[in-house]
Amino acid sequence: MMEKIKGKKILILGGGFGGVQAAINARNELDSSHSVSIIDRSRMSYLCGMNPMLIIGKRQISKTGRSLGRLANRGINFIESEINSIDLTKKHVNTSQGDFLFDYLVIALGAEYDIHAVPGSQNAYSFWDFQSARKLRRRLSRFKKGKIILAAAKPPYKCPPAPLETAMLINSWAREKNIRQNVDIHIYIPEPKPLGVAGQEASQQITSDLERRGITLHTSAGITKISDNGKKGFFQDGSSSFAEVIAVIPVHKLPVAVQQSGISGNKPWVPVNKKTLETTVENIFAIGDVNVIPTGDFAIPKAGVFASDQGTTVGKIIAGRINNSQTPTYNGYGKCFLAYSMGTAAMVGGSFLEDSGPKTSLSSPSVSSMRIKETFELNWRNFKI
Ligand SMILES: Cc1cc2nc3c(=O)[nH]c(=O)nc-3n(C[C@H](O)[C@H](O)[C@H](O)COP(=O)(O)OP(=O)(O)OC[C@H]3O[C@@H](n4cnc5c(N)ncnc54)[C@H](O)[C@@H]3O)c2cc1C
Repeated sequence: MMEKIKGKKILILGGGFGGVQAAINARNELDSSHSVSIIDRSRMSYLCGMNPMLIIGKRQISKTGRSLGRLANRGINFIESEINSIDLTKKHVNTSQGDFLFDYLVIALGAEYDIHAVPGSQNAYSFWDFQSARKLRRRLSRFKKGKIILAAAKPPYKCPPAPLETAMLINSWAREKNIRQNVDIHIYIPEPKPLGVAGQEASQQITSDLERRGITLHTSAGITKISDNGKKGFFQDGSSSFAEVIAVIPVHKLPVAVQQSGISGNKPWVPVNKKTLETTVENIFAIGDVNVIPTGDFAIPKAGVFASDQGTTVGKIIAGRINNSQTPTYNGYGKCFLAYSMGTAAMVGGSFLEDSGPKTSLSSPSVSSMRIKETFELNWRNFKI
């Protein structure tokens, strides 16, 4: 009698953009003898990319999330559990629901926020996660006049266009409400120029687009401290400013379980092979915000489009290795939306791993790109992205 071949265990840590696509793509190409599981602390996942629209009341709260439980329909086990530690040698992950063994591991735990890195942050607003965005939405719904500051502390942070996009949306929203003349919008970023990763031209273009809309951009001026009442910000260029609303983009860091596993080799983010997204340990991959992939003077941005694509690639690589079939290589391509108003968006990004260096651009804003953004959001809710 032939012995039954024991299936492989594919374990995916994190059910965000990257983890979900890794699971779906591995599952699609593997037979049912192999198990594909996702562990996440939260059953509900929210699309951060909707937060800039959410805070100005242009997205419905009930339509910003997706339940990871729905993945069961696709043959993927979802385990709602806190991940405590990852043992690279014994190949198991310890969680609040016990230990899970793996043959293939995908680390897709994203970036954690270090709220204490900017003292006083807890007194200010944010829109970098769903709960803080809801709080800011309530505040803006009764906002009539005054200064609004959007301030990032330190790179890298998720979606570098997001603070710029949010300022443009606040401009558009204030115009619609007929209060624009009473609203003073400022962005503070730590980088010497905006969208540096997208190249010189994109940087110049967005700078003049902001200026034309009366939005003041302060560069090399990351936020360093916030007063007890949350209304005075202090910046790395030595300046300080009062505002009715200060919204902070927190400092990002490696999730503790990943850092303690040793997989990053004490680097700030997990280094990977840029073609396979494999870490220094065979069959352990790191995708999305948790990794670092150098490109020119920068790294591939921390954005959902890249995380999703990396998930697709790694899901197929794992399936290919198990099935002994061809495996794809990661190509570093991705474009993000940058809403210019409630009805128009531009596309920014490009091909980041070209041999000759990154090939990137920022398109002109258009209604059609906003339509594509809306479809993207719908596709995300339906697990297509
Ligand atoms: C305001 C804002 C706007 C954005 N706009 C865009 C945009 O327009 N386009 C775009 O492409 N990207 C955008 N992004 C960036 C995008 O959201 C992230 O880059 C993307 O979510 C990263 O995907 P990921 O899979 O790497 O991690 P995540 O999506 O962050 O998923 C990580 C998962 O791991 C889980 N997790 C973490 N630690 C643990 C633990 N210890 N135990 C259990 N579970 C754990 C989390 O619950 C989470 O579900 C935006 C981000 C923000 C904040």
